Amino acid sequence: MQIADVQDEIDHELISKAGIASKIREVAAQASEDYRGKNPLLIAVLKGAVNTIAAFSQALSIPVQLDFMSLSSYGSGTESSGTVTIRQDLSTDVRGRHILIVEDIIDSGRTLAWLVDELKRRGAASVEIFALLEKPARREVDVDVKYHGYEIPDEFVVGFGLDYDERFRNLDSIAVLKPEVYQGDNQ
Ligand code: 5GP
Repeated sequence: MQIADVQDEIDHELISKAGIASKIREVAAQASEDYRGKNPLLIAVLKGAVNTIAAFSQALSIPVQLDFMSLSSYGSGTESSGTVTIRQDLSTDVRGRHILIVEDIIDSGRTLAWLVDELKRRGAASVEIFALLEKPARREVDVDVKYHGYEIPDEFVVGFGLDYDERFRNLDSIAVLKPEVYQGDNQ
């Protein structure tokens, strides 16, 4: 789906489809060098990071394994609930594995800080992070991001996996919604 298909609800495009692809290619080239011979396990948190892990893993020039986790830290609104619970766990034993967490967006950093601690607690050999988007103005918890995508302003974005109330995940670029789309919600 493209911006034109939902133009009534989109305020503006923030990152184009081509911009996303070129950033992912750039980061994947670096990660391929860093992880060569290490058989890394890429982990994505569902559902937002699905597009990012799909594009990123295909752009790598080394073999990797993939696994997924479903965590709940957000409701259907735009604000963090502050607590993280596991909805669906990994199917891989991470002990001794080199883990690269592939994230769509880091906002407060709470979800990711929790996940890094959890993977280390389970005995991972290393845990690093690739974040396609980061909102530095919103960071509350310190997380060490190894591979950076784009820094974005403090705005609620959708597309390329990111939703608003389960909508817009299949938008092929990253965009800011018109305020009236989410105004009036209970938050
Ligand atoms: P954090 O724990 O860093 O505050 O929240 C991370 C999660 O919040 C992301 O994985 C994503 O699901 C959600 N999130 C944070 N900011 C945004 C945003 O601008 N748009 C959307 N769609 N989700 C967001």
